[in-house]
Amino acid sequence: MTKPYWNKEIETATRDEIEKHQLKLLKNQVKYCYSNSKFYRNKFKTAGITPDDIKTLEDTKKLPFTSKFDLRDNYPFGMVTVPLSDIVELHASSGTTGNPVVGAYTTNDMDVWAELMARSLYATGVRKEDVMHNAYGYGLFTGGLGFHYGAQKIGTTVLPISGGMTERQIKLMKDLGSTVLCCTPSYAIYLAEAMAQGGINPKKDLKIRMGLFGAEPWSEKIRERIEEKLQIEAFDIYGLTELCGPGVSVECSEHNGLHIWEDHFLIETVDPKTGDVLPAGEEGELVFTTLTKTGLPILRFRTRDISVIETERCECGRSHAKMLRVTGRSDDMLIIRGVNVFPSQIEYVIMGFPELEAQYQIIVERPDALDVFTIKAELTETSVKMSQKDLETLRLRIRHKVNNVTGISPIVELVTPGELPRSIGKAKRVLDMRSGKI
Ligand SMILES: [Zn+2]
Repeated sequence: MTKPYWNKEIETATRDEIEKHQLKLLKNQVKYCYSNSKFYRNKFKTAGITPDDIKTLEDTKKLPFTSKFDLRDNYPFGMVTVPLSDIVELHASSGTTGNPVVGAYTTNDMDVWAELMARSLYATGVRKEDVMHNAYGYGLFTGGLGFHYGAQKIGTTVLPISGGMTERQIKLMKDLGSTVLCCTPSYAIYLAEAMAQGGINPKKDLKIRMGLFGAEPWSEKIRERIEEKLQIEAFDIYGLTELCGPGVSVECSEHNGLHIWEDHFLIETVDPKTGDVLPAGEEGELVFTTLTKTGLPILRFRTRDISVIETERCECGRSHAKMLRVTGRSDDMLIIRGVNVFPSQIEYVIMGFPELEAQYQIIVERPDALDVFTIKAELTETSVKMSQKDLETLRLRIRHKVNNVTGISPIVELVTPGELPRSIGKAKRVLDMRSGKI
């Protein structure tokens, strides 16, 4: 058996060692930001602090938050801390409204990113002998290249197929003997459907044994669907353009949380409303501070992702803290008729019905004064053949369940298999048509 860790010394360090190391890096990163960034100097001045005020890890809470808006307001290079000639790669988020978020990497940042992606892939079991089918988008999006750099560091064979042309994807997966699949969870489901339609049996016809899925929140139920339909083991991976891209945290073989690489990122959870720091184990918004970045360091970045942090040592032997699966983004929350609704709640309900595909759409309209809340759910090839009476019962059961979970009753429309649009990247499941929100 090959060694289970990419970097045993770091991945299994004691809590004490990790925190000591973090404090040293934090002090350096804070000083670095203060000396090299007008943006941070101004922020520190407003907050009435200097780098010398950071003496312990708890002092992190004295630092001001950084948000997506700061990055957008300082677009494109206002927060970059080195001469542009020292930047060797740029990335950008999709940014559907306004300026995108730019990621700027020095040679050092590229080395760290590749190292963290190698460590992440290795933790899930990717090895030199594997063929990695990388269907994340290549280009400005950090997904494609992030996986690429990490896999090459391990020595894994990379197939840089990127997104789209699904039939060709399946053909090459078969002909080239891909063993690892990397893409968004929604595309994994789409691939599985396309395989079923093309008469491909993943277990018999393909060598795919596992996959890493991320770039959008997904649930345990979606994991079950992917694992069952593709006959593989599915791992969650997490990252943000603002921090480096994928490689911030990854699931280990225990499948009960994602290890955050704490030698490069300091993690906090805060109350999304007040910004107060919450104790480990309490659900809140994840806030990250980069510890080793040189091109575009970020202090206390508000992710809007809601999760829980656990610091007990994991069964896998790794000591780095784990974040539980992201349950939703505080940005994604819809307020419908005054009630808070998370798309993840709707997904939870939909996935609980075996009569439904893993495809749905949430539509919110306001034709008059009152919001109209509609859920389109897709029937499977089997359930579409049910009698009208049974379909009506199913519709009412879904409506009732959504009402139980969210406290609000939707209009439920059942649609035929394949009717809802499929996505090769991040799925667009919410259509909010109120006051020109879309
Ligand atoms: Zn673990």
